[in-house]
Amino acid sequence: MKRKVLLIYTGGTIGMEKDYETGSLRAFDFGNIFEKMPEMRLMECEVFVHPFAKPLDSSDMGPEEWRMIARLIFENYKEYDGFLILHGTDTMSYTASALSFMLKGLTKPVILTGSQLPIGDLRTDAKENLLTSLYYASLYENNEAVIQEVAIYFEYKLLRGNRTLKYSAEYFDAYSSPNYPILGQSGVHLNINKDNLLRNTNKESFYIDEHLSEDVLFWRIFPGMKLNHFKEISQMKVLILQVFGSGTIFSSEKTLETLQQIRNNGTEIVVVSQCISGGISFGKYENSNIFSKIGAISGTDITAESAITKAMHLMDNPNYKGTFAENFSKNICGEISN
Ligand code: ASP
Repeated sequence: MKRKVLLIYTGGTIGMEKDYETGSLRAFDFGNIFEKMPEMRLMECEVFVHPFAKPLDSSDMGPEEWRMIARLIFENYKEYDGFLILHGTDTMSYTASALSFMLKGLTKPVILTGSQLPIGDLRTDAKENLLTSLYYASLYENNEAVIQEVAIYFEYKLLRGNRTLKYSAEYFDAYSSPNYPILGQSGVHLNINKDNLLRNTNKESFYIDEHLSEDVLFWRIFPGMKLNHFKEISQMKVLILQVFGSGTIFSSEKTLETLQQIRNNGTEIVVVSQCISGGISFGKYENSNIFSKIGAISGTDITAESAITKAMHLMDNPNYKGTFAENFSKNICGEISN
């Protein structure tokens, strides 16, 4: 039986080619992808292409586009065995993280990929990324999808989407998943690390939760930072503070006073680390005690991308019982380690 994959093309470098007259990159008509890549016809799965009317640079993607993708998946969920989203690389980790929270009870693969060089470039990484992603998006065993979560495939690695970050604007190997092992790797064989895959243990049926609040702010602290700038942001519902190492911040009285004032205004404070791997550990150093005093929430080993989209999804979401802090601290779909 031929598996059916819906390929949603949103934009980004992958769908571009060089205009040899002007030398600049332009988007090509993605409806013609089979002409550009006849190899796609040799795949064991059937591919149906749904291009965005206007291809977007991924810096223009946000909650509205995430909802559009979630709805497309929802409307086509029964019809297709897997979903492949072609996306610009710059914000792919945000989209993957947001979708992981929005797509509930997923039992089919949702794979995102893109490329560092356009598909029309001689040295492109697009073809391998696209073909192997199609393979993962249509991989079934005993009539069950092998991947039942939102993942990013890039440069031979399959990664949990909400654990990723783009760490290179230069190398083909552009994504990393510092706090969670890879889900699969393609070499001579296409391997899957089954023990690392997510399973929908609640056995809930598939639906989408489109809730995304935009009252979330992310702030990276730095040595010598003036704390009065914080006052201007006291209207935010969630402030994600990216702090030093395993959770430290300047120990001055002024810090406590300013952050306490923000909390008194009803703003939730989530603490994440500036380090790429490892996470927050309140109480490890004296300079983290301030966070326990003001009732801040530890992001533990979450990525910044995932913390932002999780906060957007949870803040004021009527579909979740319990407080924001309780829900944020829970592992919803593999985004934090237990
Ligand atoms: N600026 C592009 C984007 O994110 C970069 C890429 O696709 O690699 O849309």
